Amino acid sequence: MRLKNKIALITGAGSGIGRATAQCFAAEGAIVIAADINQAEALITQELIERVGGKCQALQVDVSQEAQVKDAIAKTVSIYGRLDLMHNNAGISIIKPMIEITEADLDRLIGINFKGVFFGCKHAIAQMSQQKKGIIINTASELALVGQPLYSAYCGTKGAVVAMTRALSAEWSAQGIRINALCPGPIDTPMLRAEFDLATDPKAEAQAAINSIPAGNLGTAEDIAKVALFLASDDAQFVHGAAIVADGGKTTI
Ligand code: NAD
Repeated sequence: MRLKNKIALITGAGSGIGRATAQCFAAEGAIVIAADINQAEALITQELIERVGGKCQALQVDVSQEAQVKDAIAKTVSIYGRLDLMHNNAGISIIKPMIEITEADLDRLIGINFKGVFFGCKHAIAQMSQQKKGIIINTASELALVGQPLYSAYCGTKGAVVAMTRALSAEWSAQGIRINALCPGPIDTPMLRAEFDLATDPKAEAQAAINSIPAGNLGTAEDIAKVALFLASDDAQFVHGAAIVADGGKTTI
């Protein structure tokens, strides 16, 4: 019960890493607001948590729309009185040769992966600065740190998340707000499976991904949820502005 009665808002909580983190935080005693653009999937997360006795409220939010993010945090505070944890996790990938990426692709990617995280930080900090306390976790990627063909725009957004996280940490650490980025490697979620499916031979693509990981397997969403739990807990009280990599060693080779 490392997060007993903590109020935790998690974006992208209707799938993959966000859902696993919602379940993990709730199992540790948090009251979770499971925010996602996909309300049906957010409600499934709520049901999964409630079925095992946890506390969760699904909330439909498009993180690329500042007013919706602001409203989600305002709703959370009006119901629960505060916001202890903000996990800006919603993200998408667009995998294309750079010369085929359209301006619309780029706007969508930046809108969700960068502006969505920015808005989440901005409105969480507005609340947490009044509380003089709060924890923010931004999901970036190992692709913030290394390159990969076809991922130029995605890498750019994730690098921006890491850089912004450092700057925000420098700005707000002294005011009691602890902000970190989490950089997962290839994690077996619907997002990654959809990426494999774009290849002519998805099975070979999946095997190539596995071969790029010294640990010899894809990560699971639960693997990342456990790292998020560490960052959300007091065990990480001296971890500020870090980009914590959990990638089975992929970025070491
Ligand atoms: P996923 O596709 O399984 O889940 C992403 C969730 O975000 C979905 O429920 C989706 O509905 C939601 N979402 C998308 N756009 C949204 C919006 N505008 N507003 C609110 N919610 C929105 O993906 P995942 O693999 O769990 O990825 C979660 C995060 O982890 C992303 O930021 C992703 O970039 C990052 N990541 C994933 C991997 C991986 O290999 N899976 C690796 C590194 C980083």
